[in-house]
Amino acid sequence: RKAPETPHPAHVFRSAHPDVAPLEVPIHDAVLGGAAAHGTRPALVDALTGHTLDYAALDHLSRRLAAALAASGLGKGDVLALHSPNSVLFPVVFYAATRCGAAVTTVHPLATEAEFARQLTDSRASRIVTVAALLDTARAAAQQAGGIAEILLCDRADGHRCVLDLAAEEHPEPDPRIDPATDLAALPYSSGTTGAPKGVMLTHRSIATNLAQLAPVLANGPEDRVLAVLPFFHIYGLTALMNAPLRNGATVVVLPRFDLRQFLTAIEQHRITEVYTAPPIVLALAKHPMVDDFDLTSLRRVLCAAAPLDATLAAACARRLGLPAVLQAYGMTELSPATHVVPPDADAPPPGAVGTLLPSTELRIVSLETGRDLGPGQSGEIVIRGPQVMRGYLGRPAETDAMIDPDGWLHTGDVGRTDADGWLHVVDRVKELIKYKGYQVAPADLEALLLAHEAVADAAVIGVPDADGNEIPKAFVVRRPGAALTVDEVIAYVAGRVAPYKKVRRVEFLDSVPRATTGKILRRELRARERSSTPR
Ligand code: AMP
Repeated sequence: RKAPETPHPAHVFRSAHPDVAPLEVPIHDAVLGGAAAHGTRPALVDALTGHTLDYAALDHLSRRLAAALAASGLGKGDVLALHSPNSVLFPVVFYAATRCGAAVTTVHPLATEAEFARQLTDSRASRIVTVAALLDTARAAAQQAGGIAEILLCDRADGHRCVLDLAAEEHPEPDPRIDPATDLAALPYSSGTTGAPKGVMLTHRSIATNLAQLAPVLANGPEDRVLAVLPFFHIYGLTALMNAPLRNGATVVVLPRFDLRQFLTAIEQHRITEVYTAPPIVLALAKHPMVDDFDLTSLRRVLCAAAPLDATLAAACARRLGLPAVLQAYGMTELSPATHVVPPDADAPPPGAVGTLLPSTELRIVSLETGRDLGPGQSGEIVIRGPQVMRGYLGRPAETDAMIDPDGWLHTGDVGRTDADGWLHVVDRVKELIKYKGYQVAPADLEALLLAHEAVADAAVIGVPDADGNEIPKAFVVRRPGAALTVDEVIAYVAGRVAPYKKVRRVEFLDSVPRATTGKILRRELRARERSSTPR
């Protein structure tokens, strides 16, 4: 990233909170350091089976599993791929791997074998931990990628060892000499501002320090029961639903996937105090008739992040639940992930605001036209500096440099404005990324797939709003001369080759895709075309 041609003073927004010291400790110590003191208090509860792990068992199991994994050769610098829906064993495996000095690359449970194989190859993972229901995909991906020493399971299937059996073996605990500032704890995948998904290098220090930064505003404690329905594999779930509540001694009630009835039943039965959501769940809570059949009076906080949330919808949800507000937060995988949260004690957060700056975090709003810094009330690119900025993309220095400038500022590709009181509003996104129900969809992946179809001459994919305000992937396709390709065929072709959340859900045929002379797709033109053709 080049420095702007005319130097100009930066307008830096700073946090109103006092700075926090970086947490220079391994993530398992940051989270489980206090586990012994919580002893028999429940750490994790499976909402469907009631199976419970208390804090002592979580700590013990993660140590015993670490010992067995280390004995089988897992060590510092290695990568373990964790491929599982939410379960009480997910954190056990995560912290066991980090105790060995390995990094965990978290894999979407719905990834296809090709998507999974790409992640395995790129991350150079040597172990997979999965569940029996996903074993076929994991096996196929491992075969495609090569280099996998063993596939372990959280449950049971023939021919594979179960992590619980490993944890019952007797081995010495590893002592890998982790350097929290440089060693990786997590390696989630994100496409960032452009291109295909890349490995986001999050150090022990960056994800641990983000917990310290969140502490003043996400102060859950032993009296809280947090419902974990958003996935642990995504950095939002990993931090807000796993690391933070377990560090705070709360009880995490785990659901493997979102089903509205199960979600509401879990809130009622477990007297849940906090739920962390993405916009589609807020929509259901605001509008679905089923919500009235449940006692949700235990809820004290509903937080929403991961994609834009309509302010009217948020207000309707809060009203229905009898809460002052749905609290928004903002972040991204590359930021470990959080930079802004609406504090629970805020008197009256402005409608639509995603929060105020977390401690030790600096923000600039940079004009998209001139590259100059903007002041309060003006919209520009959100640019962030702080200890939560990723180390970079694994093996991709050019992509890293394109996102983080030499002074350490990360350019998010989101557009926002901050008011005089420090409230951030996210107003647009200039990067390619599409967020479908909070999940990342990389247009570059879908475009590459479409271009591989023999009847497609050119293609571009952007996010467009559906009737509920959700963002959905839409493909603009140019057919080869004489080819008779239909909308349904395009939709079916993509759906057969990607994880379900990445499906192309709308298709339009064009004579040509607007491209710059460099060949770059002019997405802005496609977005403008879409806006002018969609009645509002
Ligand atoms: P991810 O890396 O998957 O967490 O995606 C990060 C991106 O999600 C951000 O760069 C934003 O584009 C979007 N995002 C996250 N939180 C919000 C929010 N509260 N409002 C609007 N967009 C958001």
